[in-house]
Amino acid sequence: MLNGLLNLLFPQACPVCRKPSSEHSIAPICAECWRTIRPYRSPACRRCGAPLVSDAAATCGDCLRDEPSFERAVNFGLYEGALRDAINLLKYRGIRRLSGPLSGMMLRMEFPDVDAVVPVPLHEKRLRQREFNQSALLAASIARHIGATLETGCLVKIRDTPPQVGLRSRERIKNIKGAFDIRRADRIRGGRILLIDDVVTTGATVRECSRVLKKAGARAIHVAALAHGVRD
Ligand SMILES: [Zn+2]
Ligand SMILES: [Zn+2]
Repeated sequence: MLNGLLNLLFPQACPVCRKPSSEHSIAPICAECWRTIRPYRSPACRRCGAPLVSDAAATCGDCLRDEPSFERAVNFGLYEGALRDAINLLKYRGIRRLSGPLSGMMLRMEFPDVDAVVPVPLHEKRLRQREFNQSALLAASIARHIGATLETGCLVKIRDTPPQVGLRSRERIKNIKGAFDIRRADRIRGGRILLIDDVVTTGATVRECSRVLKKAGARAIHVAALAHGVRD
C-alpha cells in the first residue's frame, strides 16, 4: 500500500521513454510503451521456438543435430524494447506486480493440456539474494488460469552455475549440465508438464531441465517462455 501511495505522489519515470508512468499495474513502464510489446510472429523453429532468418527451414540446426527432450517450446516475444525492460524490472528490481500483466501475455499463447506447471528453478543461493523466482511467479499465474497443478519443489537447481551471459552455445550446454535434479519424482511421473522460463537464449537451460524431467518419468514436456533472446 505504501508503495502504491508513493507511486501516486511521486510517479516514476518510464525506463523506456522517461515520461512519468501513471498506470500502477505496469509502472514504472508507461501505458504507451507497454502497448509497443508485441508477440513474435516471424519465422521460428517449430520445435524449440528459436527465431529463424527465413521460413525455408522449419526446424533449426540445433534441433536437427541434437533433438530436445521437450515436445515443443514457444516464446511470447523477443527479449528487446519494453518487454526486456519489464522482465528486468521484475527480475532485478523486484517489481513483482509485473508478473501479473507479463503472465497475461504468455496466456495469449496456446498451451496443450498439461497436468502440472513447473518453473525453471533458481539455486537456493540466488533465491535468497533475489527473494523470489520470477519464473515461479509466472508459472503460478499460468497454472491458475489453465487449471493445472503448480509444482515448485520437484525440479531443483543443485549447482549454482555462473551466469550464461557471454557464453557461447557449446559452453552454455557444458555450464548447465548436471545443474538440476528431481525431488519427489512421484509428483511428475507419467504426467504432462508445462515448463516455464522467463527468457530463453540458446535453450541450453530448458533443454537440460526437460532432459532431467523426462528421465524422472515425465510423459511429455512443453516449454513456454516470455521472451526469446535476440541472436547476434
Ligand atoms: Zn514509456
Ligand atoms: Zn530448434
